[in-house]
Amino acid sequence: MQRRVLILGSTGSVGQSALEVAAALGDEVTVVGLSARRNWRLLAEQAARFNVAAVAIAEERFSDNLRRACPAGTRALAGRAGLVELVETCDANFVLAAIIGAAGLPATLAAVGRGLDVGLANKESLVLAGALLLPLAAQRGGALIPVDSEHSAIFQALHAGRREDVRRIHLTASGGPFRQWSAARIAQATLADALNHPTWSMGPKITIDSATMMNKALEIIEAHWLFGVSAEQIDVLIHPESVVHSMVEFQDGSIIAQLGTPDMKTPIQYALTYPRRVTGIAEPLDWSQARCLHFEPPDFARFPALRLGYEAARDGGTSGAVLNAANEVAVERFRSGTIPFGRIATVTEEVYRGQRRVPQPALDDLLAADAWAREEVDRCIRS
Ligand code: NDP
Repeated sequence: MQRRVLILGSTGSVGQSALEVAAALGDEVTVVGLSARRNWRLLAEQAARFNVAAVAIAEERFSDNLRRACPAGTRALAGRAGLVELVETCDANFVLAAIIGAAGLPATLAAVGRGLDVGLANKESLVLAGALLLPLAAQRGGALIPVDSEHSAIFQALHAGRREDVRRIHLTASGGPFRQWSAARIAQATLADALNHPTWSMGPKITIDSATMMNKALEIIEAHWLFGVSAEQIDVLIHPESVVHSMVEFQDGSIIAQLGTPDMKTPIQYALTYPRRVTGIAEPLDWSQARCLHFEPPDFARFPALRLGYEAARDGGTSGAVLNAANEVAVERFRSGTIPFGRIATVTEEVYRGQRRVPQPALDDLLAADAWAREEVDRCIRS
């Protein structure tokens, strides 16, 4: 089937890789819509290059700049409502959700609500509202295809057996830049240290999440929702080479893994062409060279954020919303120099412990939990 694709977050790391993949896939993929938060120049350039029908910029103050810079035939929308309008009105049959953070939720919800197939990179929307997104997708009939490399690997490995025969999921993690650092050194890491990821090239927020290992915590919750597995069925495995992207263990003890170079273009393309596989632009693994693959258990003492992922997957309700929002704000405060690196995990944990969990939340409860956690981070930092 020809994909008519709307890329939400097209100016970001995943978004730009997706456009490269789309260009390489040729007639198979038509890009019909794009969005950004404030990078109107790049958004307008992308709109011209791909001749897209409609674009949206989340920050209203850039709407005039965007309109002036866009080609004559491109409709330019603005504001958060403009982003949702783009999803609701554009002629897409596939939406790549690649906005960073909880800000991606309204557009993701709109895409799922329209029954469109969604390639999901925006893990935070699932961590926040998995309890709503999964049932909604099932009801409206669109597929939810993971783009996160680990979850794409699991999605692919699951094709080897029946869901009810899954014993465990082994979620691999590079370990980030601080894998071999002492706790004391990690606590004082600089922004440059945290942005220096050893294997993956990604946007800044997820790179910092990889350094705290909160990224893996969020992925535990993401796997829990996407694949219907309990926290107890998910193991995290440190694998510094980032070649084995994750594994599924079945009841007979067989473990099925997906391997490849650490390049997001592979899972992005897989989501776009699923269930077909076509020649891609990512470098394949070179097996002509000798290579070693290492695996080790994670260290929960040096990376306390990881434990919170298991807790939130178990606790359910509004827990994921609180964990995600507290972390987002803590990461922002670290980036602006307000708190040291080590405080990201401790402040997030403090907020998490102070929450009043709503067990069966509606959307309003999730958004209220998100808003509460955001304010609570600053209260904790001040106290
Ligand atoms: P980036 O920060 O590189 O890009 C984020 C994109 O979202 C940009 O287009 C940005 O626009 C837009 N955006 C940011 N804030 C808002 C907002 N408030 N409202 C609307 N749009 C917004 O992020 P990544 O590409 O690294 O990550 C995107 C998602 O994919 C995340 O959920 C991440 O966890 C996930 N992911 C990323 C991977 C990677 O390799 N990067 C790997 C696996 C998952 P602008 O450019 O104008 O700021």
